[in-house]
Amino acid sequence: MSDAYHELLDAAIHQLQELKTQGVRFVPVTRETLAALSSAPRPIAKQSTPAAPLPRTADIPVRSNANSQAGISSSVAGTSPVAPDRGSVSRSNTTNQVAPSSATTGTVSPIVSHHSAAKTDGWDKAGLRATPISLPLPGETTPVSAPALSPEAKAAAFAELRQRALACVKCEHLASSRKNVVFGVGNIDAQLMFVGEAPGADEDAQAEPFVGKAGQLLTKIIQATGLQRGDVYIANILKCRPDTPGQSAGNRKPTPEEMQTCIPYLHEQIDLIRPKVLVALGATAVEGLLGKTVGITRLRGIWHTYRGIPLMPTYHPAFLLRNQALSEKRRVWEDMLQVMEKLSMPISEKQKNFFLKAS
Ligand code: URA
Repeated sequence: MSDAYHELLDAAIHQLQELKTQGVRFVPVTRETLAALSSAPRPIAKQSTPAAPLPRTADIPVRSNANSQAGISSSVAGTSPVAPDRGSVSRSNTTNQVAPSSATTGTVSPIVSHHSAAKTDGWDKAGLRATPISLPLPGETTPVSAPALSPEAKAAAFAELRQRALACVKCEHLASSRKNVVFGVGNIDAQLMFVGEAPGADEDAQAEPFVGKAGQLLTKIIQATGLQRGDVYIANILKCRPDTPGQSAGNRKPTPEEMQTCIPYLHEQIDLIRPKVLVALGATAVEGLLGKTVGITRLRGIWHTYRGIPLMPTYHPAFLLRNQALSEKRRVWEDMLQVMEKLSMPISEKQKNFFLKAS
């Protein structure tokens, strides 16, 4: 295929990646463009310089309008890329290597139409009406095997990412109101990673996530599994405390714009850490990672997938502080039991019975 074709393809992929990093989820495509794309001949690798293999059609997570409700690409749902180590959830610094984020995020699949003629019936009726094609969220893309990083390179990449986040002023209002950027804390080789919503006043003051009352409860939950806080990694969707102008106390939920602006940092953290299990604490964490706005009550306790990583949504510890019912504690604990099982952690009879009335 001609150089011009490859240049056009590269430019299109680049443009879509740009849009995606800006948080754009849908691009309008006319019927004609779709027809042209689907009838375009597939590029043939030049003999002198073999092209990198294109992703297999089956791996390209494209959602049609019809299945966009499904949320997660079927090609990744329920998959776990790595078998868990038995009985241990923190990795040794020397044995685990991770895919660099640039390599991972560079694999956003080009938008390719999988629509057959039958599937485009709706557009046929609508004539030239532009039809949105979904750009997969990071959580919906297929995991990729990227070149491994040495422990030193991983630590350096993480430090560089932290520096970038600490210097961030993308949300001017948050940059001017914050005391600290709350980047994240814990073991960058952790197998288990918790994601919360945003720092509160205590976290803002101490530059560490989950150190206030909700954080202390999270620490207890972690310890109940047999782990220590330092064994896992803890981060938030937002790295700055959401400002509350005119109020001396109180928190607010991050806005969609703030989440879109900040979440690339979290994606990069996850890409570097490559945890075997993610726990999303509360609805905002699920929304940020999976783009799902369904209530946490319906999502919790059910495995989801973030870029091939099993993700367990559960209640935010702040909810448990507001609602002291044993039944709610048990629900969170059952979610954690599932997490422990997924990580092949030992579970004692006593642990199985936590927060059961009889125990
Ligand atoms: N709540 C969160 O979601 N994150 C924190 O860091 C603290 C409280």
